[in-house]
Amino acid sequence: MERTCSKPNCMVEATFTVTIDYPGLAAAVGPLSPSASVLGTDLCTRHALAFTVPDGWVLMRHLDLSGDS
Ligand SMILES: [Zn+2]
Repeated sequence: MERTCSKPNCMVEATFTVTIDYPGLAAAVGPLSPSASVLGTDLCTRHALAFTVPDGWVLMRHLDLSGDS
């Protein structure tokens, strides 16, 4: 089953999952999770790369980007 980016107006296939830890003020961008999670947000490559966090947050990227984007 194909999952698409969760950004509004973006119908691109999701390739990454962003997991946000609100109490810990942290977010992690990693490979698409095997199953959709209530804690995860699925994003396409473009939006995963553009994802940022507010000041004071920690952003962890686990991106395996081979080749040119
Ligand atoms: Zn997108």
